[in-house]
Amino acid sequence: MALKKILSAILLACAAHAERFEAAESHMGTVVRITIYAADDSAIKPAFERIAELDRELSDYNSDSELNILCSTAHDWPVLVSRDLYRVLDAAQKLAARSDGAFDVTIGRVTHLWRQGRLADRETLARVGWRNLVVRGGTAYLKLAGMQLDLGAIAKGFAADEALAVLRAHGVKQALVAMSGDIAAGDPPPDKEGWTVKIQPGGREMLLKNEAISTSGDTEQSLEIGGVRYSHIIDPKTGLGLTNHLAVTVIAKRGLDADPLATALSVMGEPRGRAMLAKYYPRATAFFTTSQADERGSINSK
Ligand code: AMP
Ligand code: MG
Repeated sequence: MALKKILSAILLACAAHAERFEAAESHMGTVVRITIYAADDSAIKPAFERIAELDRELSDYNSDSELNILCSTAHDWPVLVSRDLYRVLDAAQKLAARSDGAFDVTIGRVTHLWRQGRLADRETLARVGWRNLVVRGGTAYLKLAGMQLDLGAIAKGFAADEALAVLRAHGVKQALVAMSGDIAAGDPPPDKEGWTVKIQPGGREMLLKNEAISTSGDTEQSLEIGGVRYSHIIDPKTGLGLTNHLAVTVIAKRGLDADPLATALSVMGEPRGRAMLAKYYPRATAFFTTSQADERGSINSK
């Protein structure tokens, strides 16, 4: 009993000495901000290194990434992939099935054209379709040559989870990893109920602990052609960027769910999206907002 008291006194003393540390680095095409309460900031570097490692595996911008090598080689037979890539592809395919193809990481050919300010043609769309990607037993396989995978709607949420896991492994539990619209929260800051995160558009404030939040919408990136504003989120059925000006925020236990769900729900719209959540993700929460053209779609955290 006495030992228990001494131990809890030591723990309290340690918690009282926790200082706030914050650092930012650029990874995955965005600024990643890590905030922790700890005795020192030594856990932050390995957490950023983990994100950099995931970027090398999952990026479709880097021709040497594991993902891009998979796209150019995995046509004739299944290829063994890393544990990280497998986890992301497997989660992506589950959501593709549950969302009836609204979420589709085989959209890469279309998104690469979008980045050049161009809309997809029929030939490009012929190389899109989640059923043409087979993920099983640690391997992946693309049924058609010329397919391009794009994990831009899921990789950041997963990376935020993994950075949080590295911090935790270093004994740091009070932490927040923010990758623009994708945030993973650990235990709350000292004497707080949670981490305060502000959702844009709308400015709603949320308190988060041990959960992840992601926002998708066309306020961060859009392309205007012929007076129509196309979102960077593509409806895989048409190959066109969304024009519904919807912003969707999802709170789930893991960024690996919140990030792709926010994208999928943007494509599905509220009625279909809510029906899918109720069926497969009853513990996730979603907010649907119509975004304004001049609003910045980001999440601020403190
Ligand atoms: P997010 O900001 O998480 O909604 O992700 C958007 C990014 O995901 C886009 O920039 C594309 O790279 C990719 N993407 C676009 N549409 C889809 C879709 N329907 N399913 C999966 N990924 C998509
Ligand atoms: Mg997403």
